[in-house]
Amino acid sequence: MLEVETIEVSYGRIPAVRGLSFRVDKGELVTIVGPNGAGKSTTMMTIAGALTPTRGLIRLGGVDITGKRPEEIARLGISFVPEGRHVFSQLTVGENLLIGADMRRDRAAVRSDYDRALAYFPILKERLEMPGGKLSGGEQQQLVIARALMTRPKVVLVDEPSLGLAPIIVDLVYDILRKLRDEGSTLVVVEQSTHRALENADRIYVVRNGQVTLEGASAKLTDKDLENAYFGFE
Ligand code: ATP
Repeated sequence: MLEVETIEVSYGRIPAVRGLSFRVDKGELVTIVGPNGAGKSTTMMTIAGALTPTRGLIRLGGVDITGKRPEEIARLGISFVPEGRHVFSQLTVGENLLIGADMRRDRAAVRSDYDRALAYFPILKERLEMPGGKLSGGEQQQLVIARALMTRPKVVLVDEPSLGLAPIIVDLVYDILRKLRDEGSTLVVVEQSTHRALENADRIYVVRNGQVTLEGASAKLTDKDLENAYFGFE
């Protein structure tokens, strides 16, 4: 579904991603795991079109989308949930969701996508009239994921959904991500915890210094394998 082939991305002259490749197949939950500064967010921003790679290719459903503008990439079916839970704090939960479908004219379909998004996130249904800024961190994380679903994406990229959340809330968010996968969504999730990657992903890529140092099916990897690749031990 999404293929990233040996991309290189720099900030000015400083390389952040150095020949990184990975893929996600239809209906998979793939996790990119790695330490701070490994290049995970840079990779996600590059796929979403906010940054342009100096080398390499990005394909969605076999079509080259490298270097396209963010709006075009969103339109082609990639929905990006950046790190940091960017909700519109003055708008209600319902308005925050509808903004995700703002450009669409097919109102009946928007309505059904809205209902579908809310069905995954019962807490948002209870908070519909509440301003986004009044939600807890976990609720805001659910809101930004729900909003990303409103465009009926082919692939959803979620950057560090667990950042700053209590473990029990992280579990809840991952329960929802796995449910989305079970019902056919294709997801790439960035994570810092190898343990959480093993628990939740179908396949894992460990990224370190802008490169993939290990990849494999979660079922075939151990905590030890992941930690070695993560910390760069031999
Ligand atoms: P984190 O978990 O901290 O978000 P990450 O794996 O997502 O880490 P990136 O944020 O992609 O890593 O950063 C990769 C490298 O690029 C790091 O060395 C970082 O310092 C550098 N970098 C990130 N953003 C910028 C920027 N705007 N300008 C210059 N360098 C940057």
